Amino acid sequence: MKNVSDFFGCKVFDDRVMKANLSAKVYQSLRKTIDEGAKLDIGVANAVAAAMKDWAVDHGATHYTHWFQPLTGVTAEKHDSFISPSPDGGVIMEFSGKELIKGEPDASSFPSGGLRATFEARGYTAWDPTSYAFIKGNTLCIPTAFCSYGGEALDKKTPLLRSMEALNKQAIRILHLFGNDDVKCVRTSVGPEQEYFLITKEMYEQRRDLRFTGRTLFGAKPPKGQEMDDHYFGVIKPRVAAYMEELNEELWKLGILAKTEHNEVAPAQHELAPIYTTTNIATDHNQLTMEIMQKVAAKHGLVCLLHEKPFAGVNGSGKHNNWSLATDRGVNLLSPGETPYENAQFLLFLCAVIKAVDDYQDLLRLSVATAGNDHRLGANEAPPAVISIFLGEELNAVLEAIERGTPYAGTEKTQMKLGVDVLPKFNRDTTDRNRTSPFAFTGNKFEFRMLGSSNSIACANIMLNSAVAESLKIYADRLEKAENFEDVLHEMIRKTIKDHKHVIFNGNGYDDTWIKEAVERRGLLNYRTTPDCMPHLLDEKNVRMLTSHKVFSEAELKSRCEIMLENYCKTVLIEANTMIDMARTEIAPAVSAYILELANTASAKKAVNASISCGYEEGLLKKLARLEEQIAVKTDELEETAMRLTGAEDVETESNMIRDAVLGKMGELRVACDEAETMTAKKYWPFPTYGDLLFGVK
Ligand code: ADP
Ligand code: MG
Repeated sequence: MKNVSDFFGCKVFDDRVMKANLSAKVYQSLRKTIDEGAKLDIGVANAVAAAMKDWAVDHGATHYTHWFQPLTGVTAEKHDSFISPSPDGGVIMEFSGKELIKGEPDASSFPSGGLRATFEARGYTAWDPTSYAFIKGNTLCIPTAFCSYGGEALDKKTPLLRSMEALNKQAIRILHLFGNDDVKCVRTSVGPEQEYFLITKEMYEQRRDLRFTGRTLFGAKPPKGQEMDDHYFGVIKPRVAAYMEELNEELWKLGILAKTEHNEVAPAQHELAPIYTTTNIATDHNQLTMEIMQKVAAKHGLVCLLHEKPFAGVNGSGKHNNWSLATDRGVNLLSPGETPYENAQFLLFLCAVIKAVDDYQDLLRLSVATAGNDHRLGANEAPPAVISIFLGEELNAVLEAIERGTPYAGTEKTQMKLGVDVLPKFNRDTTDRNRTSPFAFTGNKFEFRMLGSSNSIACANIMLNSAVAESLKIYADRLEKAENFEDVLHEMIRKTIKDHKHVIFNGNGYDDTWIKEAVERRGLLNYRTTPDCMPHLLDEKNVRMLTSHKVFSEAELKSRCEIMLENYCKTVLIEANTMIDMARTEIAPAVSAYILELANTASAKKAVNASISCGYEEGLLKKLARLEEQIAVKTDELEETAMRLTGAEDVETESNMIRDAVLGKMGELRVACDEAETMTAKKYWPFPTYGDLLFGVK
C-alpha cells in the first residue's frame, strides 16, 4: 500500500510547491493576493507563470488551459500547448504572466441568456489565484472566472466569489462590533457529500435513455429493490471497492480531501464525502470529483451515474451541502462559544441564518432546481420542496426561552439574558439525527440537503452566502447605531426568533401532514417544480437584495433565469424524444415480435390437435396487443404535445407547458411500456431491465 502523504497533492501547484519554486519576494506577493485579494503585479505574474510552467512540464504537462464553469453546469477547458518555435527549428516551452492571468476562449456557444451579443462573443477568463492550479492528464489547469467584455459574469464562479466577499464584508462588521478587531477575513466553508450510482458499462451502452439523458425513461419495478435496506452501509463489493480505491487515489493526487465512502440506501448507490474546505475551492473540487468519478469508472468497465433520479421507484441521488463560516483565526462562527459574549455572537450568526433562510426560501429553492432534481424533492425520499430548518431539541428550547423571556431549563440561571449567561454546549445530537429536514443544524454547521447530485454546488452557496450577508447587514446597521449594544442585540435576537420561528420545524419532513401545515398554517412556500420557482429569481425583493450586495447585476439575473428555464425545457425535450424513439424502434417491435411468437405457438398447437388449449397464448396475446396499441397511441400523443411547444412565445410559457402536458404524456407512455415489459419474454426485451442494472455490478 502506497503512503498517501507521499503523493497527496502531487498534481497540484499548491503552497508547498510555490514556496519551493518561487523567490521569497514573489511568493509573499502572491500570498498577499491569495489571502487578501491584493492586486497582482505583472512582474509577479510572469514569475509565477514561469515557475508554474516549469513545474507542469516536469510533471509531464504539454498543454495548459483556463478551466472554468460556464452556465452549462459542467466545466469547460480549451487546451493550448506551451510550445513556441525557436530560431533553430526546435521548440521551447513558454508561458507568460499574461497568459496566466487572462484567457480568451472562443466562447460564443456557451449559454449567456442574451448577455453577450455574438459579435462580441469573446468572453474572457480571469485567473482565480485562491484556487490552486493542477494537472489533469497532460494539461495544466488554471482555475478561472469567465466574464463577458462588458464585465457580466458568464459562469458560476464569479457570483460565488462575489457572494463570499459580500458575506465577508458584513460578517467583519459584526465581529468588530463584538470586539474581534483582529479578524481580517471571514470565509464560508463547505463539505459536499456526493451520491452516485455505479452500473456496468456493458449494460449502460445498451440503453439509449441512459446514454442520452443520464436516467432510465422506462423500466418495470424489479422483484427486489431497496426494501430490505440491506445495501445501506453494507459490505462494499470487490469491484466497487477497487473503483473507490482508484478514485480516492486520483482525488488525493489532486489535493482533494476524499474522506468517507459508503454504500447508500439504493442498490448500486454509493456516497463520497470530502473534508470541508473554503467554498470556492470546495466547488472546484466537487466539479473535479464528479469528472474523475466518471473517468475512473470507465477504466473499471463501469459507468458512474450522477443524475438525480436514474431509476424510478428507487432512491435518487442528492448532495448534502455542509456549510459554515469561519474567521481567518480559525474560529467557526456557528460553533457555540465558551464565554457569554461568544455565545451571544454565536446566537446572532445563528439568527442571521434563520432569518436568511426564511426571507429567501424562494432563492434557496430555485438554486437547486433542475429537471432532474424535480423528481426527488417532495417525493418522500429527499427533503420536501418546502424549506424549513431543523435545530434540534436543545437549541430550539434555548430560542424559545429567549423569545418568551422565560427561564431555560438547561441552565441554572433564572432567565436567559444574552451577553450574561453562558449557554449550554450544543453537542451534535447523534441519537436524533434528523435526516428529513432540508436545512439542518448539525452542531457547528448547517447541512443544506436539497441539492441534486449533478448540481454544481456554486448556485446554492451563492444564494446562501448572499441571504446571510443581507441578514448580517441589517443587524450591523442597527448595532452600529445602538446606544446600548446589549439591549439592542438582545431585542434583535428575540425579534428574529419571533418573526421567523415559523420556518423552524423539528419533526418529520417526509410526513404529508407537515406539508399541509407548512403551507396552510405557516405560510411557507411550496414550489414543486423548476418552472414554479425559477421566475421568482426576478422578484423585486430578490433582485434588490442580490444587486445591493453586488453578487449579480439585474441583467445577469435575467439571463440566468432564462438559461435555467431553457435548460429545463431542453432536458425534458431530449427525454421526450428519446422515449419516442425507444418506444417506436425498440419497445413496440419487441412486443410485436413476442406477439408473433405467441400466435405461432398457438397455431402450431392447433395444427397438432384443434382441441389443445391455447388459453395461455391467447390471453397474453390479447393483453399485449392492447398494450402495443396503447404504446403506439401514447407515443403519437407525446410527439404531438412536444411539437406544440414550438408555438410557445417565451421560455417561461414553454416550461409551463412541459410541466403541465409533456411530463404527463411521458408518464402515460412509460406506464404502457413498463407493463408490456412485465409480460414480454425476456429474450425479446431490447435492453437490460432494472434488475439487471441495479444488481449487475458484482
Ligand atoms: P454526515 O453524518 O452527515 O455524513 P459528517 O460528519 O460525515 O456528517 O460530515 C459531513 C460533511 O460535513 C463532511 O464533508 C465534513 O467535512 C463536513 N463538515 C464538517 N464540519 C464542517 C464545517 N465546519 N463546515 C463545513 N463543513 C463541515
Ligand atoms: Mg450528511
